Amino acid sequence: MTLDLSGRVAVVTGASRGIGYFIARELAAAGAHVIAVARTVGGLEELDDQIKADGRGQATLVPLDLTDMPGIDRLGGAIHERWGKLDILVANAGVLGVISPIGHVEAKTFDKVMTVNVTSTWRLIRSVDPLLRLSDAGRAIILSSSAAHSARAFWAPYAASKAAVETMMRSWAHETESLALRVNAADPGATRTAMRAQAMPGEDPETLPHPSEIAKRIVPLASPELKETGLIFRAKHNRFVAYRQPE
Ligand code: NDP
Repeated sequence: MTLDLSGRVAVVTGASRGIGYFIARELAAAGAHVIAVARTVGGLEELDDQIKADGRGQATLVPLDLTDMPGIDRLGGAIHERWGKLDILVANAGVLGVISPIGHVEAKTFDKVMTVNVTSTWRLIRSVDPLLRLSDAGRAIILSSSAAHSARAFWAPYAASKAAVETMMRSWAHETESLALRVNAADPGATRTAMRAQAMPGEDPETLPHPSEIAKRIVPLASPELKETGLIFRAKHNRFVAYRQPE
């Protein structure tokens, strides 16, 4: 069934490139009005041009550094004033930090990973949770990673940050399970983006799925028909497999 998101308002963070850019395009192609958040104005403008060229949906561009916590609060206020609700949140923006032995990680790198990946996600949830509750079918998708579970050597800051956001997602899902709001995580798996190239510089990017393919699998989690909440949807062999962390 074709996904119809006309009349729906969506926030996508990290929409200037990579997976977030293509999620924003897919949501717009399904008819949504996308509030596209990132720091790089050029990337956001390119997204806007592309959405216009695709001929469906619309974008509002929000150049914002997600380390600006009062800025995140203002975003929620501005959405409330203009639309009075939010239907879809895609908390996608993230940073890798550094691949390094844990004892060699600089304090400012660790802090940055935690601020962008964890604190800003919490702050965004706090800012838009009341707006998502005002939607008849609020949907939140939090980008996670298998690193959250594998405790991979040299990936400690990033892995810990993704474990933290998954746990926040599950708490939020428990809090809201009796509501229309559905809250899930998406683990895209290795994807051909700048972040992956930073993590695996020796890898041939052509061996990895393009972010446009991954976005097509993630966007159905924004469907008003979705029943599941509190799950992690993990990319596996061209499919998305849902699983629940043990309680
Ligand atoms: P990219 O590095 O390609 O893109 C990251 C996005 O986050 C950019 O749009 C960037 O925008 C935004 N961002 C980073 N820092 C900030 C900030 N301080 N304020 C606002 N926006 C910021 O990453 P991917 O597309 O690969 O990753 C997207 C998500 O998927 C991440 O959460 C990542 O952890 C997750 N993931 C990715 C995997 C992969 O293989 N690629 C695998 C597993 C999970 P700008 O720089 O313009 O601000």
